[in-house]
Amino acid sequence: MNLHKLIFTKNDCYKAGKKIKPKGIMVHSTGANNPMLNRFVGPDDGLLGKNKYGNHWNQPMDRKICCHAFIGKLADGTVATYQVLPWNHRGWHGASGSKGSCNDTHIGFEICEDGLTSADYFGKIYREAIELCAMLCKEYGLTEKDIIDHREGHALGIASNHGDVKHWFGKHGKSMDTFRAEVKKLLEVKAEPEPQPDPEKPTTLYRVQVGAFREKGNAEAFLRKLKAAGFSDAFVVQVDNGLMRVQVGAFAVKANAEQRLKAAQAKGFDGFITTKSSKA
Ligand SMILES: [Zn+2]
Repeated sequence: MNLHKLIFTKNDCYKAGKKIKPKGIMVHSTGANNPMLNRFVGPDDGLLGKNKYGNHWNQPMDRKICCHAFIGKLADGTVATYQVLPWNHRGWHGASGSKGSCNDTHIGFEICEDGLTSADYFGKIYREAIELCAMLCKEYGLTEKDIIDHREGHALGIASNHGDVKHWFGKHGKSMDTFRAEVKKLLEVKAEPEPQPDPEKPTTLYRVQVGAFREKGNAEAFLRKLKAAGFSDAFVVQVDNGLMRVQVGAFAVKANAEQRLKAAQAKGFDGFITTKSSKA
């Protein structure tokens, strides 16, 4: 997942400042042929590109509308996810139905539609959305069964009468059922057991590095940020050239390091895997 964060502090929904306890996730698609994230997300952060009409949603609008994230294209054409509300903020994404409002219970994200015919774009947004849902399920203790689209939300009586996302997924042989099955698969990926260290043999450790600093205070501040994000085993290693590297795990099994790196990236930390330790 290519996750970025640009919180819509100027949208009235953000200003309303209500919180929810997320009990599910609602998948939406925008219903307009414009796959560019900058249609909705702004101002330009250097990756989004400029919205020449200035009509992104990070500003006061005449409609009460706002979701938690958008999936679509950056200016360079790559697909990314932008979180635009804190996940536990009450969004304005699905209105209500006969039995209440999904806005009180569901995290909602919009996938920017294109002309609905590109298999390449669909494949990318489908994968991105699956990974986003898996991350949110882990964060809020949800399962794939807690994920619905807007259309299903209407059928359940908790959303307005919209058809997204079936009209799009169906064109590419997918459905919310195939989607949930893919999220389930990701949730079932377990870490491989770490082998017992053999004192006779030096083991290569795969370290997940997410920062490097010259100033000790900066390294420590970054470390606190990581711990606050749930990486309680993050640590700082000092290396010969005076750099302090901040790492979030050291693993004998490379796949485990890769999984940790993904988890760090999902929380917005850039990083890479290195086998170097104190000798830089
Ligand atoms: Zn919708």
